[in-house]
Order: sequence, then structure tokens, then C-alpha cells
Amino acid sequence: MSAKASVLPTSVDRRKGYYDRKRETMSRARRRTYQDAWVRALVLHAWRRAPGLRRRLEATGLRPADLRTVADLARLPVIKKAAMPDLQRADPPFGGFSTVLPRDLHWVFVSPGPIYEPFARREGSPWRAEVACFAGGFRSGDVVVNTFLYHLTPAAHLLDRGLALLGCTVVPTGPGNAEVQVRTMLDLHVTGYVGTPSFLLTLLRHAEERGLGRLPLEVAQVGAEALPPSLRRTFEEQYGILTRQSFGTADLGIVAYECREADGMHVMEDAVLEICDPQTGAPLPAGAIGEIVCTVNHRAYPMVRFGTGDLSVVTEAPCPCGRTSPRMLGWRGRADEVTKVRGMFIHPRQADEVVGRYPAVARYQVVVTRADHQDALTVDVELRQGEPAAAVLPGMVGTIRDVMKLRGGVRVVPAGTIPEGAKKIDDRRTWD
Ligand SMILES: [Zn+2]
Repeated sequence: MSAKASVLPTSVDRRKGYYDRKRETMSRARRRTYQDAWVRALVLHAWRRAPGLRRRLEATGLRPADLRTVADLARLPVIKKAAMPDLQRADPPFGGFSTVLPRDLHWVFVSPGPIYEPFARREGSPWRAEVACFAGGFRSGDVVVNTFLYHLTPAAHLLDRGLALLGCTVVPTGPGNAEVQVRTMLDLHVTGYVGTPSFLLTLLRHAEERGLGRLPLEVAQVGAEALPPSLRRTFEEQYGILTRQSFGTADLGIVAYECREADGMHVMEDAVLEICDPQTGAPLPAGAIGEIVCTVNHRAYPMVRFGTGDLSVVTEAPCPCGRTSPRMLGWRGRADEVTKVRGMFIHPRQADEVVGRYPAVARYQVVVTRADHQDALTVDVELRQGEPAAAVLPGMVGTIRDVMKLRGGVRVVPAGTIPEGAKKIDDRRTWD
């Protein structure tokens, strides 16, 4: 790797240290006290300044005094991201969730929906991107291309602010135009990349195809789409680019990020992340799959129990990096695609995982039925020509139990039984 023109000392260790050691390594008891304190202050602040939140409390008969700890948050119903456009239309422009005067806004972002997100002029860094970027290996002196979109949505600005706080230099290239991106990386000796993983791959290939040589990239923070493990390996092993990702939304900022271990995403101290039943909003125990519901310590736009519609699992197991916060174990799909069977959520991605282990399967559909008040789950499979039923039976029954954590049957059906474009999970239950 060429060190020419880089202002980084060659000894820089991108895997060591913390952005804020005290916060990132605090004990579980201290974190509890810290979060209880900001939850209490935030709810009181929003009660006074954000009529949208005040209405939510009043509708449930709650007062700020009822929400004094993280555990108390469960008393407030979840507000679904999908409900935001209607809430904002009813009380424009922010649904009564902004606590600042319109003239004190620096930016207003526009997300699909539309959902409008305010950002106050006098705000430090409520998006917390610097914490994620540091944990992902960015260091002072890095020159970074930011290839996220700079208009309408906040992703690019959010990362710009975080990188600036770390002492990085940002080249705001935005998306597209591989030619200019690659030229810029070579001319400015760009060491960092921010953007989608697929575009990073495009740029690396572009440089190779044009015979421009190896790009000076050493570190990447990717997002906005899934990062398959095989693609991460390509970036790290083939190109020597330390590649990490984080989770956030336009409404919340970044709430969780990967450390050097790349084994789940640490939840920020200024975010409370609950894994909840997507239907009732009740918090689920650690290890269960459910909807990510977040409360963020963002004074200007306090989102309290915001249901993201995304599914994940959280673990409290310690991480070798020394950070003590719980970790979110990857993205497990969208809450509106889940089906609850015998008390367990199943998702099309789990069905893919089961069937993916059996190359003999040509098509499949999971069928959920109910008889005698008991749910039943059956995977209908069509086999490739010439494959015997023994290619899936009885093995797949065990795979269903391993992946979905419930008993299910497997039925080999004749080719052409499963309709073209059929849903992966067909819920045929009737509730009468
Ligand atoms: Zn860690």
C-alpha cells in the first residue's frame, strides 16, 4: 500500500481505542443511571415543547412523572414510522415533534413519505456519526470521499458532520460518476470511503478495468443496503479496506455501529433500543427477534419509542473490543413481512435460509394454517427434475426447527403447484 502524500502516520492503528472511552466502556449500572437521567429530562423537555409528544402521552393518560426510567418507556405505545406522514399532515410540518422555532432550523430534510426532519442550527452532534466512524477505523488526517446523496435526505450530511469532528477531510463527491470519483481518490490520496457497499465495489472494479492501479483506500463506512459477508471479505482481504457498517434512520440518526470485531452493532449510549413485538409494542427478552423501537436523546427532534419497522435481535454478551453496550445482531428484515406462528415470528428471510440449504428445491412456499386453534406450518417444495423426495426429507424438518425455532412439516408437491409470483409465506389462517 502506498503511503505517498498521506498525512497519516504509517503506524496508525485503526482497530484500537475509543472515541469516548468513558462512555463506551461504562458499566451496565452506570449506563442505566445515565440513560434513566436523559430519558427523564428528554420526556419533560418534549412535554413542554413538543405538542406531538404531549398528545401521545395524554392519549394514554400518562404524565412526564410516569416516564422516569428506561423501563417506564414501555408504558408509551410505539409510534410507527409509517404513521409519520399522516401525523405531519395533521400538524404541519413536523407533526408537533420539533421543539425548536422554525427560524432556528439549519436544515429540513425530506424523506420518502414525505416525512420532514428538522435539524436545529445550534446543535452539537445528535446524530453521533463520529462515534461510529471512529469505531469503524476512521482517524484524524483521513481524506474521505462521501458518496451518499447530498440532497433531500440527511445521510451525507450526517456523516460529514461526524467525520469533521474526527478531524477527517471530506470530499463531497456524492453518488455516481465513477470516472471522477476514481480520479479524485488518486489525485487527493483518498484513504476513506463513505457510501453503499455496491458502489464501493463499482469504483474498485472501475479502477482495475481502466488499469489505474490500486486505489489508496484503507477504510470504509458503508450503509443504506445490506453488506453480505462475502463482499466484506472481498473489500478486506482483496483490497485491504477495513469495512464497517452502522444502523440508523433519517429520523433517529445513527443508533448502532460495528467495532473492530464486526460481530453485531453496539448501541449508542444516547439511544435506547428496544426489541419489541411488532403488533403490541411490548419489549421482548434478549435474544428474541422483533421490531427495533428507538428513543434517542435528540433535544430538537425527540423521537420517543419510534418503531422503525426493521427487525433485529439484541445480545447483552460482552464484546472483546471492550465496549460494554448491548449489540444489535444485524438486520433481519421488515416488520411488515413477519408472520407470527405459535408465538414465534417468522420472516421470509428465515424461509430462504431453510430452503437455501437444499439445492434440490426449485420453488417453495411456506403455508401457515390453523385447525383446532393450533397453528401449523408447512413448507411446500417443488423439486428440480429428477430429484427424489429424499433430497429434502426428512432433513428439512430439522432445519426448520433450527432456523425458525418451531416444528414444521415439509410437503413435496408436483411441479407447477406453487403459482408464479406467489408470496414466500402464505398465511391461510382464518380467525373466526
Ligand atoms: Zn465491540
